[in-house]
Amino acid sequence: MPHSSRTTRRRFLQQSVVAALGSLPARSLFAAENRAPAPAVKDRVPLHPSRFFALPLGSVRPAGWLRRQLEIQASGLSGHLDETWADVGPNSGWLGGTGESWERGPYFLDGLIPLAYLLDDAHLKAKAQKYIDWILTHQAPNGMIGPTSSDDWWPRIVALKALTQYQEFTGDPRVIPLIDRYFRYQLAELPKRPLRDWGKFRWQDEALSVIWLYNRTGSSYLLDLARLLHQQGYDWMDQYANFQFKQKITAEFIKLNEGGGLKDLALSTHGVNNGQAIKTGAIWSLVSGSDTDRKATAQMIAELDRYHGLPNGMFSCDEHLSGRDPSQGSELCTVVEYMFSLERALAITGDPTLGDRLERLAYNALPGTLTDDMWAHQYNQEPNQVECSLHHKPWVSDGPESNLFGLEPNFGCCTANFHQGWPKFAGSLFLLSGDSSSDQHDGLVAAAYAPCEVRANIRGNAVHIAEETDYPFRGSVKLTVNPSAPLAFPLHLRIPAWANRATIAINGKAEPQPQAGSFARIERTWNPGDRVEITFPMQPRASRWFNDSVAIERGPLVFSYGIGESWVKLRDRGMTADWQVYPTSAWNYAVKLDPDNLAADIKVSKSEPGDTPFARKTAPVQLSVKARKLPTWRAEDGAADALPQSPIASTEAEEEITLIPYASAKLRITAFPVLKS
Ligand SMILES: [Zn+2]
Repeated sequence: MPHSSRTTRRRFLQQSVVAALGSLPARSLFAAENRAPAPAVKDRVPLHPSRFFALPLGSVRPAGWLRRQLEIQASGLSGHLDETWADVGPNSGWLGGTGESWERGPYFLDGLIPLAYLLDDAHLKAKAQKYIDWILTHQAPNGMIGPTSSDDWWPRIVALKALTQYQEFTGDPRVIPLIDRYFRYQLAELPKRPLRDWGKFRWQDEALSVIWLYNRTGSSYLLDLARLLHQQGYDWMDQYANFQFKQKITAEFIKLNEGGGLKDLALSTHGVNNGQAIKTGAIWSLVSGSDTDRKATAQMIAELDRYHGLPNGMFSCDEHLSGRDPSQGSELCTVVEYMFSLERALAITGDPTLGDRLERLAYNALPGTLTDDMWAHQYNQEPNQVECSLHHKPWVSDGPESNLFGLEPNFGCCTANFHQGWPKFAGSLFLLSGDSSSDQHDGLVAAAYAPCEVRANIRGNAVHIAEETDYPFRGSVKLTVNPSAPLAFPLHLRIPAWANRATIAINGKAEPQPQAGSFARIERTWNPGDRVEITFPMQPRASRWFNDSVAIERGPLVFSYGIGESWVKLRDRGMTADWQVYPTSAWNYAVKLDPDNLAADIKVSKSEPGDTPFARKTAPVQLSVKARKLPTWRAEDGAADALPQSPIASTEAEEEITLIPYASAKLRITAFPVLKS
């Protein structure tokens, strides 16, 4: 594994975190303990309010293994990208230079800002501040922002996502007036210079920022701007109301060789665009009030799953929608954009299944496509990934570097954009519940589970919750609730759809059994030190995929057979490198399983999570299952052939194989053929 020597600073940081966690909540990660933090900003009339509301950024802070993961990210490429990649370096157009002046600077900021502020890392904050200060001090007299070399609306949509986060973390008084001037300019300009290509297909991301500002200023022109973006933007709801893209999208279909790459057919089937689009219906429902719009997020996911779904929670996109074969890939940008879509759509809709999907992406697809030290990433990851090398199969339109681990394999968008994944997830673990019109019913919502602390303002009172857990590796979650004084409010706990027979106890006393696939609502007067213990069932489960293959899951983790890996450096790339990974063991196994009696077929073994949460050598959960090789199932040009239809017979010897978390296996089989019984 590359870069294993960069551990000293990390280990020191980990020990600090362990020390801080050991004495929770007395030595909180938060400095000011008793003062109520800023209240959440709710939806303002005439918006049709969200079911839940985002807490102000900084309210939720990562702890335990999740904090370690963010520290690894800060010690890796995210904390150093500007030092080693010219596209976001000192000559960036977003610093006034003559270098890259389009999406890459804003993409980097969109993840660097939450990473820096969640870790309270002065060095990273200073890095982000240089770009922010340049943007804030270089607004044109007409209101335009960003480098003058391009007037494309799209990179500014990303810059707005970064600026709104920065404002929430810092309260910098320059931000809201700047965004307000920009939006007034854009409202006047859009009729003459409408949204085009990427901006047209990603308008909903700007609508989020427009609504963000409307909820803070109440200026009615912002609703006009939201409607104009909707009117000029691509109609995603219509695409999914009558979904036509049911097959692998070919280069011929989208006329790539005839210059069709930025035409509607290409952009409407483009993976990242669809990942961003998943939140469109939920966001637009705030304006339209339409129940159909609000439900469109779940419906879009259902269509993508049906025709392009993969066991890591993704849909295939390499880089257009490419069917259900688990040898097809998914782009890293799509992973982090899909996660952001789910975080926003979950708050608006209150649909707990979106939290299930968010965890599936965060705990499988995201770490599965980055090296453990987060110095290298792939462009495309495959659930059945038997080799990472220069090859052309199975990508429809992407280049031969697409599944290398490196600095900028295939194309540098993911290099700039992946940083938002973990920090935004960490900041979204808890939400506020309640009415838009008053704070009488305000409460807190555990939307996704990971070790963290939250400090929130409930009716003017400070409430602190410490969440201690090794979820997703373990099924036990302990919350210590600390209001500044006894306080009545509801606590909503997401019970995943897979969590039949979950239990909840408060101060050791069992609550009624919660229903899987719902939010369990506990309303009581909370006293300082009250303890909530949630136990999720962690029996292995089987799910069905392409050609009736199976994937094995346990909690939110998907498990894979970890193929032996040989990491071969292709070339140095400044502070990092590009790597090929070759298999050193067989991988063509079919498993022996009775899906109705998995407990008899799958053995579970556990060990303590290590310093690197998803590292293969310290995988905290391992499963073993019986299997036989299928000599006819082979790879060609670095990609496994489509797996054979199950059930299938094999006369090879029976073996016991070990499955580890998907993200721990960089070469892996995740969807298995099933042996005939
Ligand atoms: Zn990308």
